[in-house]
Amino acid sequence: MALRTLAVDFNSYFASCEMQERPELRGRPVGIVPVLAETTCCIAASRQAKARGVKVGTGVAEARALCPDIVIVQQRPALYIGYHRRLLAEIEACIHVTAIKSIDEVECDLTATFAPREKAMAVARQIKDRVARHVGPCLTSSIGIAPNWLLAKLASDMQKPDGLVVLDDEDIPQKLLALDMTDISGIGPRMDHRLKAHGIDTVAKLYGATKATLRGIWGGVEGERMHGRLRGENIPLTHQEHPI
Ligand SMILES: [Mg+2]
Repeated sequence: MALRTLAVDFNSYFASCEMQERPELRGRPVGIVPVLAETTCCIAASRQAKARGVKVGTGVAEARALCPDIVIVQQRPALYIGYHRRLLAEIEACIHVTAIKSIDEVECDLTATFAPREKAMAVARQIKDRVARHVGPCLTSSIGIAPNWLLAKLASDMQKPDGLVVLDDEDIPQKLLALDMTDISGIGPRMDHRLKAHGIDTVAKLYGATKATLRGIWGGVEGERMHGRLRGENIPLTHQEHPI
Protein backbone atom coordinates (compact mmCIF):
# COMPACT_ATOMS: atom_id res chain seq x y z
CA MET A 1 0.00 0.00 0.00
CA ALA A 2 1.50 3.34 -1.01
CA LEU A 3 1.92 6.18 1.49
CA ARG A 4 -0.81 8.64 0.56
CA THR A 5 -1.57 10.81 3.59
CA LEU A 6 0.33 13.08 5.94
CA ALA A 7 -1.44 14.25 9.12
CA VAL A 8 -0.12 17.20 11.11
CA ASP A 9 -1.36 17.64 14.68
CA PHE A 10 0.01 20.52 16.75
CA ASN A 11 0.80 19.50 20.32
CA SER A 12 -1.15 21.06 23.22
CA TYR A 13 -2.12 23.73 20.72
CA PHE A 14 -3.74 26.51 22.79
CA ALA A 15 -1.15 26.14 25.55
CA SER A 16 1.68 26.15 22.99
CA CYS A 17 0.37 29.40 21.42
CA GLU A 18 0.31 30.98 24.88
CA MET A 19 3.86 29.77 25.58
CA GLN A 20 5.02 31.20 22.28
CA GLU A 21 3.48 34.58 23.19
CA ARG A 22 4.50 34.55 26.85
CA PRO A 23 8.01 33.16 27.42
CA GLU A 24 7.44 33.14 31.19
CA LEU A 25 5.00 30.23 30.67
CA ARG A 26 7.49 28.01 28.84
CA GLY A 27 8.31 24.75 30.56
CA ARG A 28 5.50 25.25 33.07
CA PRO A 29 2.23 23.40 33.64
CA VAL A 30 -0.45 25.55 32.00
CA GLY A 31 -4.21 25.03 31.85
CA ILE A 32 -6.33 27.03 29.39
CA VAL A 33 -9.86 27.88 30.53
CA PRO A 34 -12.81 29.57 28.81
CA VAL A 35 -13.28 32.03 31.71
CA LEU A 36 -11.28 32.67 34.86
CA ALA A 37 -13.38 30.85 37.45
CA GLU A 38 -12.62 28.01 39.83
CA THR A 39 -15.75 26.18 38.68
CA THR A 40 -14.78 25.96 35.01
CA CYS A 41 -12.81 23.23 33.18
CA CYS A 42 -9.55 23.18 31.25
CA ILE A 43 -10.11 23.22 27.51
CA ALA A 44 -6.40 22.57 26.91
CA ALA A 45 -3.33 21.70 28.94
CA SER A 46 0.37 22.03 28.34
CA ARG A 47 2.57 18.96 28.14
CA GLN A 48 3.83 19.67 31.65
CA ALA A 49 0.25 19.82 32.98
CA LYS A 50 -0.72 16.64 31.12
CA ALA A 51 2.23 14.86 32.72
CA ARG A 52 0.65 15.63 36.10
CA GLY A 53 -2.74 14.24 35.10
CA VAL A 54 -4.49 17.41 33.92
CA LYS A 55 -6.57 16.76 30.81
CA VAL A 56 -9.13 18.50 28.64
CA GLY A 57 -12.20 18.59 30.88
CA THR A 58 -10.34 18.61 34.20
CA GLY A 59 -11.96 21.14 36.55
CA VAL A 60 -9.80 24.03 37.73
CA ALA A 61 -10.03 22.99 41.40
CA GLU A 62 -8.98 19.44 40.53
CA ALA A 63 -6.19 20.74 38.27
CA ARG A 64 -4.83 22.80 41.18
CA ALA A 65 -5.00 19.77 43.45
CA LEU A 66 -3.11 17.62 40.92
CA CYS A 67 -0.65 20.33 40.09
CA PRO A 68 -0.41 23.17 42.66
CA ASP A 69 1.98 25.25 40.51
CA ILE A 70 -0.30 25.17 37.45
CA VAL A 71 -0.79 28.52 35.71
CA ILE A 72 -4.42 28.99 34.71
CA VAL A 73 -4.76 31.12 31.58
CA GLN A 74 -7.94 32.46 30.01
CA GLN A 75 -8.33 31.44 26.38
CA ARG A 76 -7.63 33.94 23.59
CA PRO A 77 -9.42 32.52 20.54
CA ALA A 78 -8.33 35.30 18.17
CA LEU A 79 -4.69 34.55 19.01
CA TYR A 80 -5.14 30.83 18.23
CA ILE A 81 -6.84 31.65 14.92
CA GLY A 82 -3.97 33.99 14.04
CA TYR A 83 -1.44 31.24 14.73
CA HIS A 84 -3.57 28.78 12.75
CA ARG A 85 -3.33 31.02 9.66
CA ARG A 86 0.42 31.40 10.03
CA LEU A 87 0.90 27.65 10.53
CA LEU A 88 -1.21 26.89 7.46
CA ALA A 89 0.89 29.25 5.37
CA GLU A 90 4.09 27.52 6.49
CA ILE A 91 2.69 24.06 5.74
CA GLU A 92 1.41 25.25 2.36
CA ALA A 93 4.93 26.42 1.54
CA CYS A 94 6.02 22.76 1.89
CA ILE A 95 3.04 20.75 0.62
CA HIS A 96 -0.57 21.44 -0.35
CA VAL A 97 -3.06 21.22 2.52
CA THR A 98 -5.94 19.03 1.36
CA ALA A 99 -8.21 19.46 4.39
CA ILE A 100 -8.28 21.46 7.60
CA LYS A 101 -9.55 18.99 10.18
CA SER A 102 -9.60 21.35 13.15
CA ILE A 103 -7.78 24.44 14.41
CA ASP A 104 -4.69 22.34 15.17
CA GLU A 105 -4.88 19.52 12.66
CA VAL A 106 -4.54 19.28 8.88
CA GLU A 107 -4.46 16.59 6.23
CA CYS A 108 -2.14 16.64 3.21
CA ASP A 109 -2.34 14.20 0.31
CA LEU A 110 1.04 12.78 -0.64
CA THR A 111 1.17 13.17 -4.38
CA ALA A 112 3.60 11.09 -6.47
CA THR A 113 6.38 13.55 -5.58
CA PHE A 114 6.02 12.96 -1.86
CA ALA A 115 4.85 9.33 -1.75
CA PRO A 116 8.31 7.68 -1.42
CA ARG A 117 9.00 7.17 2.30
CA GLU A 118 12.14 9.34 2.31
CA LYS A 119 10.37 12.18 0.48
CA ALA A 120 7.41 12.04 2.86
CA MET A 121 9.70 12.13 5.89
CA ALA A 122 11.71 14.96 4.38
CA VAL A 123 8.63 17.12 3.86
CA ALA A 124 7.50 16.38 7.42
CA ARG A 125 10.86 17.59 8.76
CA GLN A 126 10.65 20.63 6.48
CA ILE A 127 7.24 21.54 7.96
CA LYS A 128 8.59 21.28 11.52
CA ASP A 129 11.66 23.30 10.63
CA ARG A 130 9.74 26.10 8.88
CA VAL A 131 7.23 26.33 11.72
CA ALA A 132 9.99 26.51 14.33
CA ARG A 133 11.89 29.20 12.42
CA HIS A 134 9.01 31.32 11.12
CA VAL A 135 6.27 30.87 13.73
CA GLY A 136 8.12 29.77 16.83
CA PRO A 137 9.76 26.83 18.57
CA CYS A 138 6.84 26.31 20.97
CA LEU A 139 4.57 25.23 18.10
CA THR A 140 5.68 21.60 17.94
CA SER A 141 3.68 19.05 15.99
CA SER A 142 3.24 15.34 15.71
CA ILE A 143 3.19 14.19 12.10
CA GLY A 144 1.83 10.84 10.95
CA ILE A 145 2.41 9.37 7.49
CA ALA A 146 0.39 6.39 6.28
CA PRO A 147 -1.63 4.96 3.39
CA ASN A 148 -4.82 6.75 4.49
CA TRP A 149 -6.21 9.36 6.88
CA LEU A 150 -7.35 6.91 9.56
CA LEU A 151 -3.87 5.41 9.85
CA ALA A 152 -2.02 8.74 9.47
CA LYS A 153 -4.09 10.14 12.34
CA LEU A 154 -3.22 7.13 14.50
CA ALA A 155 0.45 7.56 13.53
CA SER A 156 0.34 11.23 14.58
CA ASP A 157 -1.06 10.18 17.97
CA MET A 158 1.70 7.64 18.61
CA GLN A 159 4.55 10.02 19.42
CA LYS A 160 4.03 13.22 21.39
CA PRO A 161 5.31 15.84 21.47
CA ASP A 162 7.25 16.56 18.29
CA GLY A 163 6.60 13.15 16.73
CA LEU A 164 7.21 11.75 13.27
CA VAL A 165 5.79 8.27 12.71
CA VAL A 166 5.38 6.36 9.45
CA LEU A 167 2.96 3.44 9.33
CA ASP A 168 3.88 1.29 6.39
CA ASP A 169 2.63 -2.14 5.29
CA GLU A 170 5.03 -3.97 7.59
CA ASP A 171 3.85 -1.94 10.59
CA ILE A 172 0.16 -2.74 10.14
CA PRO A 173 -1.23 -4.06 12.40
CA GLN A 174 1.82 -4.80 14.64
CA LYS A 175 2.44 -1.21 15.74
CA LEU A 176 -1.27 -0.66 16.42
CA LEU A 177 -1.97 -3.59 18.71
CA ALA A 178 -1.34 -1.67 21.95
CA LEU A 179 -3.91 1.02 21.11
CA ASP A 180 -7.43 1.24 22.47
CA MET A 181 -10.16 0.67 19.91
CA THR A 182 -11.52 4.14 20.74
CA ASP A 183 -8.23 5.69 19.56
CA ILE A 184 -9.43 4.88 16.03
CA SER A 185 -11.50 7.63 14.40
CA GLY A 186 -14.93 6.21 13.68
CA ILE A 187 -14.97 4.12 16.89
CA GLY A 188 -16.67 6.12 19.63
CA PRO A 189 -17.86 4.85 23.01
CA ARG A 190 -21.07 3.36 21.56
CA MET A 191 -19.33 1.43 18.81
CA ASP A 192 -16.68 0.29 21.32
CA HIS A 193 -19.50 -1.10 23.45
CA ARG A 194 -21.08 -2.88 20.47
CA LEU A 195 -17.78 -4.39 19.40
CA LYS A 196 -17.18 -5.66 22.94
CA ALA A 197 -20.66 -7.18 23.02
CA HIS A 198 -19.51 -9.20 19.99
CA GLY A 199 -16.34 -10.35 21.75
CA ILE A 200 -14.07 -7.85 20.01
CA ASP A 201 -12.30 -6.07 22.86
CA THR A 202 -8.82 -5.38 21.47
CA VAL A 203 -7.36 -3.86 18.31
CA ALA A 204 -5.87 -7.31 17.59
CA LYS A 205 -9.34 -8.85 17.61
CA LEU A 206 -10.63 -5.99 15.49
CA TYR A 207 -8.00 -6.85 12.88
CA GLY A 208 -8.95 -10.51 13.22
CA ALA A 209 -12.61 -9.83 12.41
CA THR A 210 -13.84 -10.50 8.89
CA LYS A 211 -15.39 -7.90 6.64
CA ALA A 212 -18.75 -9.63 7.05
CA THR A 213 -18.49 -9.55 10.84
CA LEU A 214 -17.73 -5.82 10.88
CA ARG A 215 -20.53 -5.19 8.42
CA GLY A 216 -22.89 -6.97 10.80
CA ILE A 217 -21.69 -5.04 13.86
CA TRP A 218 -21.84 -1.67 12.12
CA GLY A 219 -25.12 -2.62 10.54
CA GLY A 220 -24.02 -1.70 7.03
CA VAL A 221 -21.33 -0.71 4.63
CA GLU A 222 -19.47 1.41 7.22
CA GLY A 223 -18.25 -1.83 8.79
CA GLU A 224 -16.76 -2.93 5.48
CA ARG A 225 -15.19 0.48 5.06
CA MET A 226 -13.60 0.21 8.50
CA HIS A 227 -12.21 -3.21 7.55
CA GLY A 228 -10.61 -1.66 4.48
CA ARG A 229 -9.35 1.47 6.19
CA LEU A 230 -7.65 -0.54 8.92
CA ARG A 231 -5.70 -2.20 6.10
CA GLY A 232 -4.73 1.06 4.44
CA GLU A 233 -7.40 1.29 1.75
CA ASN A 234 -8.08 4.87 0.79
CA ILE A 235 -11.80 5.25 1.41
CA PRO A 236 -13.03 8.80 1.95
CA LEU A 237 -14.49 9.45 5.38
CA THR A 238 -18.18 10.10 5.60
CA HIS A 239 -20.51 11.61 8.16
CA GLN A 240 -19.23 9.69 11.18
CA GLU A 241 -16.15 11.83 11.45
CA HIS A 242 -16.38 14.68 13.95
CA PRO A 243 -13.84 17.46 13.53
CA ILE A 244 -13.79 19.87 16.48
MG1 LIG B 1 -3.40 18.69 18.88
